[in-house]
Amino acid sequence: KALPVDSSLEPGSRIVEAACFSRVHPQPLLNPSIVALSEQALGLLGLNLDGVLKDPHAVEYLSGSRCIPGSEPAAHCYSGHQFGQFGGQLGDGAVCYLGEVETGHGKASVPGSMNPCGRWEIQVKGAGPTPYSRGSDGRKVLRSSIREFLCSEAMFALGIPTTRAGSLVTSDLFVQRDEFNSGNLKSERCSVVLRIAPTFIRFGSFEIFLPVDDLTGRQGPSAGRTDIRAQLLDYVIETFFPDVQGRHSERHERNAAFFREVAVRTAKLCAQWQSVGFCHGVLNTDNMSILGLTIDYGPFGFMDRFDPEFVCNVSDKRRRYSYEAQPYVCRWNLVRLAEALGSEIKPASAGAILDEFTSIYEDFYLSIMRRKLGLLRKQEAEDEALVADLLKTMHITGADFTNTFRLLSGVSSTTGEGDSVAELIRDQCASLEELKMANHPTMEPGELESILFMAETNPGMFSFVANKPEVAKQLEKIGRLRELLTISEEELKTKQREHWESWIKQYRKRLARECDVTADPDAADQERVQCMNSTNPAVVLRNYIAQNAIEAAERGDFSEVQRVLKILESPYSFGMDLERHSGRINPKQEVMENTD
Ligand code: AMP
Ligand code: MG
Ligand code: MG
Repeated sequence: KALPVDSSLEPGSRIVEAACFSRVHPQPLLNPSIVALSEQALGLLGLNLDGVLKDPHAVEYLSGSRCIPGSEPAAHCYSGHQFGQFGGQLGDGAVCYLGEVETGHGKASVPGSMNPCGRWEIQVKGAGPTPYSRGSDGRKVLRSSIREFLCSEAMFALGIPTTRAGSLVTSDLFVQRDEFNSGNLKSERCSVVLRIAPTFIRFGSFEIFLPVDDLTGRQGPSAGRTDIRAQLLDYVIETFFPDVQGRHSERHERNAAFFREVAVRTAKLCAQWQSVGFCHGVLNTDNMSILGLTIDYGPFGFMDRFDPEFVCNVSDKRRRYSYEAQPYVCRWNLVRLAEALGSEIKPASAGAILDEFTSIYEDFYLSIMRRKLGLLRKQEAEDEALVADLLKTMHITGADFTNTFRLLSGVSSTTGEGDSVAELIRDQCASLEELKMANHPTMEPGELESILFMAETNPGMFSFVANKPEVAKQLEKIGRLRELLTISEEELKTKQREHWESWIKQYRKRLARECDVTADPDAADQERVQCMNSTNPAVVLRNYIAQNAIEAAERGDFSEVQRVLKILESPYSFGMDLERHSGRINPKQEVMENTD
């Protein structure tokens, strides 16, 4: 409430200076209708499904078509680094803030709680243009809305911090979109997701105060307004980090503790993403939540076959936001946040925290991976190598990330069960054709050719270049590809089986040492399986699952969206749909253009 507000209301693209929010009204939809509701997310607002369904105005409220009594809608101005470059003024171009509901749901006073005040901010996404729309129409279509709605709730059920989705509403209002950047425009239904989170403030919310950028010449719309920056920072820390506020009376110390907490949450979030094979797709600083939530579901993807170089966003030509890059990108984004905090944080404190980031991330990552492998009693130095070998085995055999972890709970340290699991995993590994495709170099052909030419003409220079990690990776792929060209499908199956038997042998040895430290190995084994089955999901939102739901919904049948939501709400349910899903993995890592 204390934040300055720009009240001159003219939708359209313009620079809004010295303000974090502008008052704006969501634009009504034509004939809005409910596609799906999330009972759990609406529950955070104190709503129940019966009540919502009985209210004749519910669909209008949920879609921003009718103003909820007491709501004071606004759009939030933020900035951000997009694909490595400062973007100047961005902001809620397609999102309208409606207000906050104080229900106490999810309220927790434990340090590090995401919602210490039990207050929930609600937003409608796709509710028409705002001063930050930059020439776009502020609308979202059914396709992108279904993906955001389903994935928000899926992530929550996986135990991964995320913004939530309460409802999905579509309408008879149409916008034109170029779905696959093909040049063919398609009329699509305007749709609105009701988003819920303690706050949607992001790193980019602090970047509006940045001075002129050396590289782009752009400057933040509120450059130099350290007074607003201080207000925003105080608001964020006092409201969402009360334990940080309470611990420190000195301002710089408080701010450093806050920055550290953001870094820790970001590290943990990223470790959780990696552990389920989730790729965000657009990790720009404006898509980094200050609370460490997953935010902005655009071209995200869950990996099918494990590939560290997986990129889920086809417009990310330079592969900036690949799966394996995510931890580095998160750290890079934290550097940008530190810069945006400017004189609020001492460079030495920020530097020390950033120096710690990688080891904090690695600790989180390894502890999750230990749970995924059911290693609960001991922590051994070689666990890291065991995990690395597992990923390597998945990669070279083209194993399915989700299903492999789920199948590994079938390995037993006491009964000698293991070979049958190797066979089960092998059965869902990649075919020869798929593996050949997966091992095509990802480097620019010209660049690659010159490296290979160098190998013949200038061995000294070549060995220097070949040692660079990026090049080494490509050469490794070429090596694998050459090998694949000489073997038959049968030989491949045998090799894949050998790879898995060998890794599982190593794993069983490690499991035996877990049992050594307990009096009751059988009970320990059971506990391990239970832990694995509540850490390794049986189902994730694979692209084709979302796509089926989208296609049905575009034909007017919303039941598939609702069915998928139900399944994703219990991703750990034992044995659920595993067979069915494993038989339907996409033959190639399908990537989706998502032009919102
Ligand atoms: P994103 O890539 O989703 O983080 O969006 C980047 C910027 O584009 C943000 O400032 C958004 O508010 C804006 N934006 C995205 N989609 C739309 C749209 N359909 N209409 C207006 N602005 C949009
Ligand atoms: Mg965004
Ligand atoms: Mg987006």
